Amino acid sequence: MSCRCPALRGRTRCARHGGKSPGAPKGERNGNYRHGGETNEAVELRRQVSRALKIVRDAHAC
Ligand SMILES: [Zn+2]
Repeated sequence: MSCRCPALRGRTRCARHGGKSPGAPKGERNGNYRHGGETNEAVELRRQVSRALKIVRDAHAC
């Protein structure tokens, strides 16, 4: 649950949290697939990205 925004009509989420899209992409495009290259650099990059996403989520207000 990312926020308490009212969902769009016919959707389960608000527009900023995917309400406008039909659903999360599957497979590689969901960003969680394993590619085997688990370098420290990749781990650190992912950490920074998830931190940034959390900040965006926390600041989100519809
Ligand atoms: Zn929202």
